[in-house]
Amino acid sequence: MLQDHGIHLRAVHKTYRGRGSEVEALKDMNLDCAPGSFTALIGPSGCGKSTAMRVALGLEDYDSGEVRIAGKPPAEATAGGVTGVAFQDAALLPWRSVERNVSLPLEVLKRDPEKYRHEIEKLIQLVGLRGYEKALPGQLSGGMRQRVSIARSLITEPEVLFMDEPFGALDQIRRRKMNVELQRIWMETESTALLVTHGIDEAVFLADNVVVMHSNPGRVVEAAEIPFARPRKMELYSDPDFHALCEKIARVLHGE
Ligand code: ADP
Repeated sequence: MLQDHGIHLRAVHKTYRGRGSEVEALKDMNLDCAPGSFTALIGPSGCGKSTAMRVALGLEDYDSGEVRIAGKPPAEATAGGVTGVAFQDAALLPWRSVERNVSLPLEVLKRDPEKYRHEIEKLIQLVGLRGYEKALPGQLSGGMRQRVSIARSLITEPEVLFMDEPFGALDQIRRRKMNVELQRIWMETESTALLVTHGIDEAVFLADNVVVMHSNPGRVVEAAEIPFARPRKMELYSDPDFHALCEKIARVLHGE
């Protein structure tokens, strides 16, 4: 098992057991995200993407296999601030200002936010929200709230960044703009990133590797390397090679 700063799942099995029912959510799940790489996990609803992410965050037990996040067991990595997380609904606290939402993970880790003033300012600038430090989430657009969520996920300088459909609530044009931004931010942080998404184009645009899952049982069926040079620009979305690769991945996704 690799002990580097990446994300590694080896032969992970996870079955949800209810009264008289069993769902094999992950069967022999293997995933290797090299340190500093960007991986996108795609697959139909119910194929186990969220389960894989919850397992990697230490929020969900698994039946067998091994998981290492930046060389640590998942719960230890999460508790130590090694991992950052951004979820679909941004999940901001409505009564806290932008800067106090960004500083929240520091408080969870019992660190003094006052000592991180400079980092908080820098991150708010990095996600393009300078001037909105004192604003409340209700005063921001959906895209701005997602940016706060990204800034918050980065405040502990995580070695590993997990994102579950972070721009799922946005329309396509805003989503593409946010993807360009996310790439820029990620390139500055040098973290290992794992993105769960439904969007093939989003996965191909952002990732070094796109990992495709199928359901019943949830498993990895293919990992495709994405060759486009960085930084990738908005124009890539209209590149014929980009479309060809998206098509190829769509065929794997739909089991053709
Ligand atoms: P995805 O994120 O790809 O949509 P999930 O990881 O949420 O997939 O779910 C994988 C499978 O496990 C699905 O069949 C889902 O119904 C089932 N499942 C997920 N969470 C639970 C749970 N807490 N209890 C029982 N079954 C679950």
